Amino acid sequence: MTQTRKATPALLEAIEKRCGAGVVTTDPSDLAELGRDWTRVFAPAPSAIALPRTTADVSAIVSMCNDANVAVVPSGGRTGLAGGAVAKDGELVLSLTRMSAIGEIDVVGRTVRVEAGAVTQAVHERCAEHDLTWPVDFASKGSSHVGGNIATNAGGIRVIRYGLTRNWVLGLEVVLANGDVLEMGRALEKNNTGIDLKQLFIGSEGILGVITAATLKLTRLPREHDVMLFSLPDLGAVVRLFRAAQEAPFALGAFEFFTDKCLARVQRHRKLASPLNENGQCFVVLEAERGEANEAWLADVFGRGLVLDGTMAQHTSQAASLWALRESISESLSATGLPHKNDIALPIAKLEGFCRDLESILAERYPGWEVCLFGHIGDGNLHVNIMKPDDMDKAAFLGRTHDVDRHMFELVQSYGGSISAEHGIGLLKKDYLGYSRSPAEIAAMKAVKAALDPKNTLNPGKIFDA
Ligand code: ZN
Repeated sequence: MTQTRKATPALLEAIEKRCGAGVVTTDPSDLAELGRDWTRVFAPAPSAIALPRTTADVSAIVSMCNDANVAVVPSGGRTGLAGGAVAKDGELVLSLTRMSAIGEIDVVGRTVRVEAGAVTQAVHERCAEHDLTWPVDFASKGSSHVGGNIATNAGGIRVIRYGLTRNWVLGLEVVLANGDVLEMGRALEKNNTGIDLKQLFIGSEGILGVITAATLKLTRLPREHDVMLFSLPDLGAVVRLFRAAQEAPFALGAFEFFTDKCLARVQRHRKLASPLNENGQCFVVLEAERGEANEAWLADVFGRGLVLDGTMAQHTSQAASLWALRESISESLSATGLPHKNDIALPIAKLEGFCRDLESILAERYPGWEVCLFGHIGDGNLHVNIMKPDDMDKAAFLGRTHDVDRHMFELVQSYGGSISAEHGIGLLKKDYLGYSRSPAEIAAMKAVKAALDPKNTLNPGKIFDA
């Protein structure tokens, strides 16, 4: 069943009566702002925004919408890049912004309970006071919400060391479409009591339930890191450097990659330049846990001719400026043009062959289009950004990106990769789900959706059409 009804004034009045004045807004600027995420492909068109203060509010609002056949889009920090939090068809947006409490930190059990609207960076700052951290980290942490991080099983720059968000969630509180509240798993590392239901909701992009709170697993803050920047002639050299880093005497904290084309855009937008003397086609930012052997490893990398040039930050502000080159890429691409973004994963050993094939497909079919590659290369995660040619109309460009994606995803499939490494499927990738998941898998996902949300109230049209 498809939910098509918009929130009526009568429904909104009933919600306010139940949850208190000021819990809903239909102000046009709120609708435009809260109806979308960082995906700039879809026009926002929600019918109302609800801003609950408690889990009881969320339960009441969701069940009232479910009864009235009004679709609900759960919404966090809206930094997603797959359209998972976009409301384009008159849905009611359920924003968790007001539910941002961070509880007491259990320094012995190394856990903290937070509400879904807690900002990722705020959680980091609170944990750091106790020498602890929640190791889910990416450039948008200043805006993203913990609830959204969990709903999308977010990745980022620390996955190489700590794994995905899924590994750092001990308990979840979720509101189902009928208003039932599930309290799943508490602050327990071990809890083998049947099906681990919370895992269903992690990475489900809001289609199965609304995450309202979570108990997070923490770890000690990593020790001091050495930050290095390298320039390399090509992707093959990047993979060889990664091999050397895996065999190095230090724990690898990050291994990030970008091309000279990304750097040129960063230079244009942020006026940041490479501090190296010899710059190649590829760059790597590497973080290594500080140790006495790091200098010797670096000398060995130079001695073996693995890199064109490289530098190791001598103090914190230098380290920050090396990181800024990598972390400014996303905003610089958007500020200097219109990127068509893709987020794919490949077995790392096959990256070089894949990129060579991708380049020749693009050069043949779309001559002159600029491709900016960057990503968490240590995880085999590549962000492929195809830039709109300056002289091409936006609509014409977007019209052709479907075609580009099909060619790219066929290639991803043939190399045994995934069409979404960390951004999710949302609206943007749902037409292509079949490139990464089998018909039987998709049928099983739909069966779970139908069981938990039979009226298709929650985030309809995301991941697949129910
Ligand atoms: Zn990323």
